[in-house]
Amino acid sequence: MGGEGLSSPNEETHVSYFYPERALKERKFENFARLQNHVILSGVCTECTACVASCPENALEMVDGRPTLKGKCTACGVCYNVCPRTRTHVNDLIGDFISAYKAKCKIDAVHGQDGGVVTGLLLYALREGLIDGAVVTHKSKEEPWKPVAVVATTEEEILEGAGSVYSHSYTVKALIDAIKKGLTSLAFVGTPCNISAVKKMQGFPAGMLHLLMRANILKIGLFCMDSFSYDGLRTFFEEEEKIPLASISKMSISAGKFSVYYDGDKVASYPLSRLDKYRASSCYFCSDLTSEDADISVGSVGSPEGYSTVLVRSPIALELLYNAADNGYLEVEPLDRQGLTSVLNLARVKKVQLYTVKRRRTYVVRVPGVPLAELELKAGPIPLEKEAVEGIKLTGKSPVKVVEYTLTNNGQELLLILQNTSGQILYDVNVRISHVDELFETNAWATDIEMWHPLEELEFKYPRALNDREYLVRVATKHGPILMKRITIAELKKE
Ligand SMILES: Cc1cc2nc3c(=O)[nH]c(=O)nc-3n(C[C@H](O)[C@H](O)[C@H](O)COP(=O)(O)OP(=O)(O)OC[C@H]3O[C@@H](n4cnc5c(N)ncnc54)[C@H](O)[C@@H]3O)c2cc1C
Ligand code: SF4
Ligand code: SF4
Repeated sequence: MGGEGLSSPNEETHVSYFYPERALKERKFENFARLQNHVILSGVCTECTACVASCPENALEMVDGRPTLKGKCTACGVCYNVCPRTRTHVNDLIGDFISAYKAKCKIDAVHGQDGGVVTGLLLYALREGLIDGAVVTHKSKEEPWKPVAVVATTEEEILEGAGSVYSHSYTVKALIDAIKKGLTSLAFVGTPCNISAVKKMQGFPAGMLHLLMRANILKIGLFCMDSFSYDGLRTFFEEEEKIPLASISKMSISAGKFSVYYDGDKVASYPLSRLDKYRASSCYFCSDLTSEDADISVGSVGSPEGYSTVLVRSPIALELLYNAADNGYLEVEPLDRQGLTSVLNLARVKKVQLYTVKRRRTYVVRVPGVPLAELELKAGPIPLEKEAVEGIKLTGKSPVKVVEYTLTNNGQELLLILQNTSGQILYDVNVRISHVDELFETNAWATDIEMWHPLEELEFKYPRALNDREYLVRVATKHGPILMKRITIAELKKE
């Protein structure tokens, strides 16, 4: 359909009835286990006792400063919903919006990432003289898939910008350059972090304000779960997977998979976890999926293939969408409940990651060549494993988990990732890695971690010893050892 059937800004919104129904349907997932994972184990519980006080089964008690399940959880969802740390309302998850749609572009020349809605809107706005230009992102001609932010003032330049580039693009600089050149009506396309930057600059009573006051800027925000370092993507595809970036025609992320279309008709898909190490560090601390500060937000989640999900947030954006649909640029339909639920679920994952510090990783590296000095002298017979077992027994289950151990840097270093699974901050932790030769520790390297957050991962790199056989990892607090792990070279080589 075209514009008919769309709501005008004054009509009741299409989505207002969705949330109560969803809340009832999904309630069973909002149980105590979810509260524990999102809030209690991640260390952000404020001990307000709201969950304990409101559990209709009286199943919760405060034990050692933590809400603890003592009875049966019926998954009524009350504890999760009353907690001040959880995000449970639509607007908390995706910001304020007027209405939600699934849409696609009807112009043949537009080859968008999903429904081509962003490019369709820009094309319509440019042809109608509503904008002088638009900040879009092209792919570098010299370095394939490197983002280049440009101010598109022609149809060709707008069409060239269609599609997603999964690395940070320097969009705000391009916007300011355009305003300095005298363009006053601009569309700005960006990820949520780009959009928030522009919103903040517009409201900041100093610096760029005089420039931004001169321009009308329509902020078109993309949904964004994460972005990757350009060098990281190049290493992954060109060096690890032997797929030259120049041969890739499209990249896409969907349902936990990163897919590339290359050499004409070939497709390769990888679990996102394989690219985790190349994820931009900023994105671990980002909680905005849907560009909450935009006039209109567009993403793929929530709509079928070939369509985009659209959240309209300002009256002017609604009018633009409405007119683009009426003039045959876009096909637009209200987003159904299932679509909105998918957006909300993904948005919740992103909100929660901000305070679930398990994604935070601290790097501790022993630099090869730097003498071990005193530490080495202290190395001696290996400590009895019994000692560690006793220590761990005292704390119940192991408070530290070995997430990964492997050889890295062409086999020259031992890479070890440990996670604090104790559910609380561990203070003054001593981590000691050593090489075991017969019954003696050599090359012992100890490092003190002042504060280790719940679920935080520590990544250690330890240069390999000559003729190595086995390594010993010992983690201790001032109360004694909490982890003891022997790693043989044979195990490492199997990785
Ligand atoms: C880094 C990144 C991560 C994303 N993650 C998700 C996600 O997790 N879930 C989801 O639903 N959607 C995500 N998207 C949005 C999705 O990929 C599409 O951009 C969106 O659905 C719009 O599709 P379209 O076909 O309507 O847009 P198109 O018509 O293809 O237009 C896309 C517009 O985005 C601009 N653009 C491309 N790359 C960048 C960039 N790096 N920075 C700024 N602008 C850019 C282009 O210049 C173009 O104007 C992401 C996009 C990006 C850039
Ligand atoms: S309601 Fe939330 S913050 Fe308050 S005690 Fe329970 S888990 Fe902690
Ligand atoms: S995840 Fe956040 S910080 Fe990362 S690119 Fe997307 S909006 Fe920006």
